[in-house]
Amino acid sequence: MDRGDSLRIALISEHASPITPLGASEAGGQNRHVRSLGMALADRGHGVVIYTRRTSQDQPAVVRLRPGLDVVHVPAGPPAPVPRDKLGGLMGEFGNWLVSDWNSVACPHVVHAHFWMSGIAALPVCRNLNIPFIQTFHALGSVKHRYQGTNDTSPPGRQWIEQFLAEEADAVIATCADEVNELSTMNVDGSHIQVIPCGVDLEIFTPTGPSWPRPQHARYRIAYVGRLVERKGIDTIVRALAGIPGTELVIAGGLPAAVLGQDADARRIMATAQECGVRHRIQLTGQIAATDVPALLRSADLVVAVPAYEPFGMVPLEAMACGVPVVASAVGGMRGTVLDGVTGRQVPPGDVEALRRALLSALSDADWRRWAGKRAVEAAQRYSWTSIAERTEDVYARLTPADSLTVPGRQVAS
Ligand code: UDP
Repeated sequence: MDRGDSLRIALISEHASPITPLGASEAGGQNRHVRSLGMALADRGHGVVIYTRRTSQDQPAVVRLRPGLDVVHVPAGPPAPVPRDKLGGLMGEFGNWLVSDWNSVACPHVVHAHFWMSGIAALPVCRNLNIPFIQTFHALGSVKHRYQGTNDTSPPGRQWIEQFLAEEADAVIATCADEVNELSTMNVDGSHIQVIPCGVDLEIFTPTGPSWPRPQHARYRIAYVGRLVERKGIDTIVRALAGIPGTELVIAGGLPAAVLGQDADARRIMATAQECGVRHRIQLTGQIAATDVPALLRSADLVVAVPAYEPFGMVPLEAMACGVPVVASAVGGMRGTVLDGVTGRQVPPGDVEALRRALLSALSDADWRRWAGKRAVEAAQRYSWTSIAERTEDVYARLTPADSLTVPGRQVAS
């Protein structure tokens, strides 16, 4: 976007608040994505508001994250946590609140919905108020259903609603090429779909900086960072560890350490570890602060991410920016970020033997790890949030010709 206009941008992220600590079962990449995208767009002079559902009585109506970036807590449903799969029924209320807010203060110039339920809330409002509507799915119900089958708890109709949103949106921003292919199998015309990957904060995720201490007893450390839900494939890593002597596995994520015993996923992982005889080589830290993630990643010889499916996968990129090669399953966004043999290794998802072989060969070759770590840092530079925001801004600019920007508006954070 080169015409110098600043836009009022609404990012809708119904369940994923940019303020929630990351790593627990309902908070991960989308939370970080909307926060970082919002920051980078605000840096470029836009007025950005992130709308997320109010989940507690104590939350102020508006939180100013920085000049140019506000978070608005939308009162839709009880001011209490509601499981993600039960939120669909509250999206009408969410949308009605947006209408009254935007009618009383000002309409944004563009609305960018994150996740399908944000689209349900925002699309009717955008059509009503004539605002360009952009959709990013972060995950598609059809993919989830394929992998989770009868365990899929998404509400019925999710796939049809996603198809509808994709067809109706003025633009769809997909985070990886797999998602575009998936949408095309749903017969969605691809002419308004564009891939813009997630970014990584290159000021925080750097090869130099503090590093977590290493234990005496283990020669190598491999690390996993993220939610502990089953589809993330942590059980596969634990099983692979059984054939990799002298190596410890650090797993960060889930509930905070003090209450980790109540985390059903953590208990499942520990039961697998017990069964495989590797319990003593696993450190389960619980959720760690986002600011602690780089130091853990730097301390590892390898970072592992072997989910069954993954819309993008921010942690692999974060590890690469820290100069640590990644062993990843060849799915979703990681097919583009983790370059096999160059910035890490790709393995088929769910294949314990292939993962074990990849880990053993990478751990036994320190020269390769050093070389791949350097390539990883280079590759990660392409994913700065500044460049991701620029590309996103180009999509917004196409939909907001200069003569459409005359609507007087609320002064968002300045
Ligand atoms: N994360 C964190 N603390 C934790 C676990 C995860 O800050 O204890 C962060 C991690 O650094 C990453 C995000 O949560 O930025 C997870 O994003 P990813 O795309 O890897 O997974 P998702 O949760 O979206 O499936």
